[in-house]
Amino acid sequence: MTVLSKRYPGSIASSILVQLLLGFCISLYSAAQTPVSSNPASSNSKNDSQENSAAEQAALRGFAAIHPIDVHVHVFKTDPAFQQMLEQLNLKVLDILVMDDTLPYRKQLQPQVDEGFALVKNGHGHVALCTTFDPYKFDSATFTADAIKQINRDFAHGAVAVKIWKNIGMEIKNSSGQYIMADDPKLEPIYKDIAAHGKTLMTHLAEPDVAWGPPDPSDPSWSYYQENPQWYVANRPGFPSKQKILEARDHILAENPDLRMVGVHLGSMERNLDNIAAHFDKYPNFAIDMAARMDYLMLTPPEKVRAFLIKYQDRVLYGTDLDLLPDADVQETLKDWRSTYARDWKYLATGETFSFEGKQVQGLNLPQPVLQKIFRSNAVHWIPGL
Ligand SMILES: [Zn+2]
Repeated sequence: MTVLSKRYPGSIASSILVQLLLGFCISLYSAAQTPVSSNPASSNSKNDSQENSAAEQAALRGFAAIHPIDVHVHVFKTDPAFQQMLEQLNLKVLDILVMDDTLPYRKQLQPQVDEGFALVKNGHGHVALCTTFDPYKFDSATFTADAIKQINRDFAHGAVAVKIWKNIGMEIKNSSGQYIMADDPKLEPIYKDIAAHGKTLMTHLAEPDVAWGPPDPSDPSWSYYQENPQWYVANRPGFPSKQKILEARDHILAENPDLRMVGVHLGSMERNLDNIAAHFDKYPNFAIDMAARMDYLMLTPPEKVRAFLIKYQDRVLYGTDLDLLPDADVQETLKDWRSTYARDWKYLATGETFSFEGKQVQGLNLPQPVLQKIFRSNAVHWIPGL
């Protein structure tokens, strides 16, 4: 969870009522009560709402038909409605654990691991787990050995990947007071161990460019930094540059050619498809997910994004960064999930023009074999066990 997934307020009453009455088809209808249009006048109109609802249902049917895999979610509770949604959408998700010392439910590792495996067990094949280790213990003499022990125990229980997060590079310091970088020698044996087990490393390193730049309300991530100023690092003397953090990431790729790495959030190169392409060309062990960065693609000329996704159709995995937090209103949250899946399908799979956050977005109408890779088979290839 980095740049928070967008929230679309919708109608609660209609959702509960119709789900009680008519089950699946109607629950898709209820999800579609969320207005897609950002124009209040039009989204309040009943006819437009019905049109949006039908459009969302159609999009979700297309999405479900491909048996999609979302490689980037954060789910903190098992819930029957969540499971029902996974089954309705033929959806498999990769639940990603993160250690974050600022959030009570992310502070401790083992409770997250236990909850994650409970979710996998209750998911009946719809949920897989990406574990992590505790980077806040970096200065412990047994840090590396402990981390390896932890992830190997989790592999033995079925974890398919390991996540490292932006606190490496942007938060945690070593005993000399320097920010630790992802290619630190104490982390290297962990990467070797992941590769030796045939597992995948998911890296969320650095942040969108705007975190280092001047305030920019037009940037899709700007509101995140207003809510989470600890990650807005512009004008902080001595703070590592984004380039330095990503060079450390690239160093892992070069040093570990047998390690499969998925750089989440477009590999933190969200405004530069050419740079992503250069990384793909240089590092055959590198892929990316699209989680929480679809907005940036939508800001890029559609013909450029389309050509990129077709050329690199084996290297891009579908992910969202959607979350289900411990205290979430499940029905409301799942409306966001459905609405996000419908929007992403419309954008990638259809040639429709639709309104999103006040912008007109042109669907990319990607060929079916490319959709099949992005929404499903790339995930299976890059994260075996999914
Ligand atoms: Zn995330």
